[in-house]
Amino acid sequence: MSGLSAILIANIALALLAALILWQGSQHAEQLSIVRRQFSKLSSTDPVTDLPNRATLHDRLTDALNSEGPDSALMVIELDGFKVVNDTLGHETGDELLRAVAMRMSSCLHQSDLLARVGNSEFAALIMREDAESRATQTAQSIDKAMDAPFRIRDDVINIKASIGIAPTTKGDSPATEILRRADVAMFAAKSEKQDSIRVYSPAMDEVLQLRRTINSELDLALMNNQLQLVYQPLVCARTGKVMSAEALMRWPGKPGQAGSPGVFIPIAEESGLITKLGAWALDQAMLEITRQKTIPIAVNVSPIQFRVDGFASSVEAALERHGIDPSFLHIEITEGVLISHTGEAQRTMKRLREMGVQVLLDDFGTGYSSLSYLQQFEFDGLKIDRAFIQQLDIGPTGRQLLKSIIALGHSLNMKVVAEGVETEDQAAILQLLACDFLQGYALGRPDVADKLHSVTRPEELLGNLHRNGGWSAAS
Ligand code: C2E
Ligand code: CA
Ligand code: CA
Repeated sequence: MSGLSAILIANIALALLAALILWQGSQHAEQLSIVRRQFSKLSSTDPVTDLPNRATLHDRLTDALNSEGPDSALMVIELDGFKVVNDTLGHETGDELLRAVAMRMSSCLHQSDLLARVGNSEFAALIMREDAESRATQTAQSIDKAMDAPFRIRDDVINIKASIGIAPTTKGDSPATEILRRADVAMFAAKSEKQDSIRVYSPAMDEVLQLRRTINSELDLALMNNQLQLVYQPLVCARTGKVMSAEALMRWPGKPGQAGSPGVFIPIAEESGLITKLGAWALDQAMLEITRQKTIPIAVNVSPIQFRVDGFASSVEAALERHGIDPSFLHIEITEGVLISHTGEAQRTMKRLREMGVQVLLDDFGTGYSSLSYLQQFEFDGLKIDRAFIQQLDIGPTGRQLLKSIIALGHSLNMKVVAEGVETEDQAAILQLLACDFLQGYALGRPDVADKLHSVTRPEELLGNLHRNGGWSAAS
């Protein structure tokens, strides 16, 4: 090879090398930019739903607060019961549910709104339009409505509810973190209310939240120090007036005022999760009482949260064995709240309890929005008609007709029917004639310490007399 051609070849090789380096460089830059884009997508997007994540929402909220545009409103949407779905049906179903929920929510939003996933079961929507607060309320109502229909994920039918908190903002108001906190506080207020699942933030909510936290820690302490108590209210046979069973009701004697009533402290304990400990304590106490008196079954109220805990049926079975109790002495009262979010799991738990011989009763019948459909899906041993229906008896014949139909319905499904909150002799007499099986209420006996349970003689006198006198002809 001549010197010239050697130089030529060397030059060509050099040029090729340079081209290769350049080509690799551009490849590298391209790869780098892909990685950068992917990284930025990952850090700004929720991988499950592909929605913007909390960091992105925070940035957009900060921009909105500092911009010249219209005021905005932030909405936080929490899915009640999502954790149970995830824990019991698995993460894949949970993820699919989240995607389906995200789709439904998106369909309720305007193009200019931003929907983000900000926590495990928490979404947020930033509304950036004129009249943001009222638009946010309208949007929240459509989201709430959109959640009504069950989700069908794989073979499961899942009902899920949303609690929505709204925090309106004004320019330069507060940092994004404070607006997010307010929306969260409003969402908690919505969650703890049965009636309304949408709330707009007000400063008074901060105080309420603080109060609830204090009650919760005092309750925890009271439980540890053995300061809680169970009282028992008789359920009597409507025909004979005999005490057939008793319902255990929790009392907090050391706590004065409203906060000491289970109607107030049980929902607080449900929200914080303390109810699991409280409920286990109540079951244990009731079982001790069963072993002590061995005459009538005792009914324990079980919160939906406690009922849904994995292994609830097994823990009841173990406790029955530990106390050496015949399962037929234990009754469990649940409300339809148990059944709303995950039907399949609740069905299995109920089936196991009933196979063991524990009776399960549907409490507060008629107050929820789909009591009737639950009666078709679940087999209960009994149903307890809510006090509100018994009060209707005083108003006129419509109330009586309605009760007659509910009692007939219960009987047609092989259930015993209990009337709750019977306060007067007149109500007792009508219910007796309507063939209601059991009566419970102040007219028959108030909740009291266990020892008083068998000294209630009034029901037998009261109902025995009514029965002998042929009752009320007006009841037909
Ligand atoms: P609930 O299960 O529907 O219990 C019936 C409530 O009505 C009780 O209120 C009882 O004292 C009251 N009551 C009974 N007869 C009458 C009547 O003739 N008239 C009126 N006006 N009221 C009557 P209480 O004891 O304040 O309990 C309220 C709720 O707290 C219960 O409603 C139940 O949901 C919950 N609760 C009570 N103890 C427990 C418990 O140990 N565990 C759980 N998870 N919840 C409990
Ligand atoms: Ca009850
Ligand atoms: Ca009830």
